[in-house]
Amino acid sequence: MDIQKIREDFPILSRQVYGKPLVYLDNGATTQKPRCVVDAMVDEYYSVNANVHRGVHFLSQQATELHEASRETVRRFIHARSTDEIIFTRGTTESINLLAFCFGEAFLREGDEVILSVMEHHSNLVPWQLLAARRGIGLRVIPMDDRGELLQEEYHRLFTPRTRLVCLAHVSNVLGTVNPVREMIAFAHGQGVPVLVDGAQSVPHLPVDVQALDADFYVFSGHKVYGPTGVGVLYGKEEWLDRLPPYQGGGEMIQSVTFEKTTFNELPFKFEAGTPDYVGTTALARALDYVSAIGMEQIAAYEQQLTAYATERLQAIPGLRILGEASRKGSVISFLVGDIHPFDMGTLLDRLGIAVRTGHHCAQPLMQRLGIEGTVRASFALYNTCAEVDVLAEGIERVRKMF
Ligand code: PMP
Repeated sequence: MDIQKIREDFPILSRQVYGKPLVYLDNGATTQKPRCVVDAMVDEYYSVNANVHRGVHFLSQQATELHEASRETVRRFIHARSTDEIIFTRGTTESINLLAFCFGEAFLREGDEVILSVMEHHSNLVPWQLLAARRGIGLRVIPMDDRGELLQEEYHRLFTPRTRLVCLAHVSNVLGTVNPVREMIAFAHGQGVPVLVDGAQSVPHLPVDVQALDADFYVFSGHKVYGPTGVGVLYGKEEWLDRLPPYQGGGEMIQSVTFEKTTFNELPFKFEAGTPDYVGTTALARALDYVSAIGMEQIAAYEQQLTAYATERLQAIPGLRILGEASRKGSVISFLVGDIHPFDMGTLLDRLGIAVRTGHHCAQPLMQRLGIEGTVRASFALYNTCAEVDVLAEGIERVRKMF
């Protein structure tokens, strides 16, 4: 991989902040966009724009073709069986809320249980809590060890005859843990229970094959994989999606409507009420084409190297403690230095041009488990370099010495 050449595709990476070159290490929150993604949006607005699926006219048909071709690109990217299994949403959060609502309506009754892990992002916890409050279901939590690995025997013990669903992050946005989702899915299936995988932090960093994983539902956000904001994906096996009621009502999701009775559209449109972000889906497809052209295996290998280098550099800093030491980790490093508050560390690093995340990372129950208020998080993407890791390490040293 020619990183310098890749960096040239991302105009923002050459800007300065506070007169310092930007070192962008907040990729877990969102990634920067290559020129081809922004160009795709501009091109579509300037030369194709029309509402999809409705018009007989030329532009509408062209916009529809682009939108549906994007669905095929997503299908190929995660290796789904059919484009009927690819639902466009606003992002991971909406995908999970959709599922919590629809799966809840169809399959969850008072006293039923949903299993989730202690390291879930709030967006894979709060929708289930809302549902729990509405329908009287129980949530059961998979614990982890101090390295940040989920305890598999405890997981197995959580299943009861009332377990209806397992919800699980593929990669933790705080600890970087890559959970053994394939094995955990196989176990759940052995108990007759489907699994939802939150792929927000995996799709940008690892090759994902939903059929090889045998995931029943898999969700991710476009903006974390170099695509635009406001577009995401819910993958669901057709046999499940077919059995779920619609989410929102409106145009596009219907087959016929009278005041007495409405029948719903087929998959995937049943779940896509209203005008979709068809420009966003085109741009998402360009982003997936972009990373596919580099190769997800290559990206994963490069980021692993970079993260290993960063881990080594950071570990050498006196008083620095890394949170999350699982045997399989993604490109995320959460850390604390002595008793320096993460917010202070983040603010001072920012002044050096280094963008990191600080706080609870939308995983407050995980912070409670770790007995801390928050961490500083550096998260890497395919355009980050060892030189940037050096700037980070030197920056942390400088801050440490100030305290
Ligand atoms: N799950 C995980 C693991 C995440 O890291 C994030 C984003 N930080 C989300 C869900 C939510 O994603 P979005 O805000 O794009 O809906």
